[in-house]
Amino acid sequence: MATRDVENIFTDIVERAKAMDPGNARKWFDELSVLHFDGGSIGIACPDESNARFLDENCRSSFTRAAQQITGHLVTVDFVVGTGDRGASSEDAAHIGPALHPDYTFQNFVVGPSNRLAHASCVAVSQSLGQTYNPLFLYGSAGLGKTHLLHAVCHEVHHRLDGAVIQLLSCEDFVNRFIRAIEQGNITGFHSQFRTVDALIIDDIQFLREREQSQEEFFHTFNALYNNGKQIILSADSPPNEIPSLEARLISRFNWGLVARIDPPSYETRVAIVQKKAHLRGLHINDEIAEYVARQAQANIRELEGALTTIYALATTLSEPVTLELAQTALEGQIKLATRHITISDIIDVVTRHFDVRLTDLQSKRRSQSITVPRQICMYLARSLTKHSLEEIGGHLGGRDHTTVMHACNKISESHDSDPQMQALLGELTKQISQAQQA
Ligand code: ADP
Ligand code: MG
Repeated sequence: MATRDVENIFTDIVERAKAMDPGNARKWFDELSVLHFDGGSIGIACPDESNARFLDENCRSSFTRAAQQITGHLVTVDFVVGTGDRGASSEDAAHIGPALHPDYTFQNFVVGPSNRLAHASCVAVSQSLGQTYNPLFLYGSAGLGKTHLLHAVCHEVHHRLDGAVIQLLSCEDFVNRFIRAIEQGNITGFHSQFRTVDALIIDDIQFLREREQSQEEFFHTFNALYNNGKQIILSADSPPNEIPSLEARLISRFNWGLVARIDPPSYETRVAIVQKKAHLRGLHINDEIAEYVARQAQANIRELEGALTTIYALATTLSEPVTLELAQTALEGQIKLATRHITISDIIDVVTRHFDVRLTDLQSKRRSQSITVPRQICMYLARSLTKHSLEEIGGHLGGRDHTTVMHACNKISESHDSDPQMQALLGELTKQISQAQQA
């Protein structure tokens, strides 16, 4: 196949994959390229390991389905780091260094009064490990950017110092690895893994509480690193002295360096974060929309991201640009969907009105196209918008058995993925159903 064709096909695959999974779609997907495209396999070149890992963990199925739909063949997809010269697939890469999230960089972090100190200290530490604040202790409630900052330090260090060895892991991971080392009688291996690094970064250290032996081990690890001038960074949901059952000697050590608090972001910071996150996803939203989204969630940035995903998903389904009205429909519809109950009758009402058919037609044995399509759409929507079982859904539509309902759901789901018109129709019906709910 000509290179040009391959590139065009690949662009289509990426666009389709983005539309299938808006929550994981990123602007940098546009920079991906094809390494090889032969037989039943596509090799996709990723700029670095964290991108390859992100795709491998989150996007394998959407890329595979998209590739199969676009090419019409069974295709497997591989995400490969760099130009592929090294031949390292993302699976090989998974054993080297910490699993970094490609979005969690300093560049993508919005600085405001609530996180200025935490951000500045992370930047300082990443520029001279072990020389400024040691240990650095970040704390704040969930969803305020602690993990983001820890990953950003790693990205920065990897970028600046090629051979630096960093261990970044969750407290749980640390404890589990310690327990495994004891079981396997390989404490020496454990020591050499953690006491010889340039930086040890442990996320959510509050989970160390009530684990006496692990606290003891961590205490010695801490001392070994500290005495050698190696960097230690910790995060937690509260300051050291408020972590229950944490030994006094650890509390005092955690206070030796800098303890930086992260507060919930102000409104202005939230607006800027929404803009930044939208930009990362290649989504253009104006100030009015960003301000609207920022007002929806106050205390947790993860919720702001969820809101953006919902808006993006609706815009994709309807193939419409993101307007304030669309954002409102997406979010308010979602709130109602979550708090109130959609019934199969609500769905049947909207679908029969749209297709101008009667319920008795849907329940009948008639198999003409004008009846089967609305019947199958009812089944599909009931499956995705209610918690009813296949049997119950079949019961509402003329006592059909569960395999019939399942077949209908698969059929509509396939045409949703392959036919933009069907996608738009389902989006429109869903909107009407959720609006009927709000009335
Ligand atoms: P925590 O570890 O404190 O629970 P995370 O680091 O997981 O929180 O952050 C939750 C989400 O919010 C992540 O997607 C992160 O990128 C985002 N986030 C938090 N603070 C900021 C910020 N100041 N700028 C940009 N994104 C942020
Ligand atoms: Mg976290």
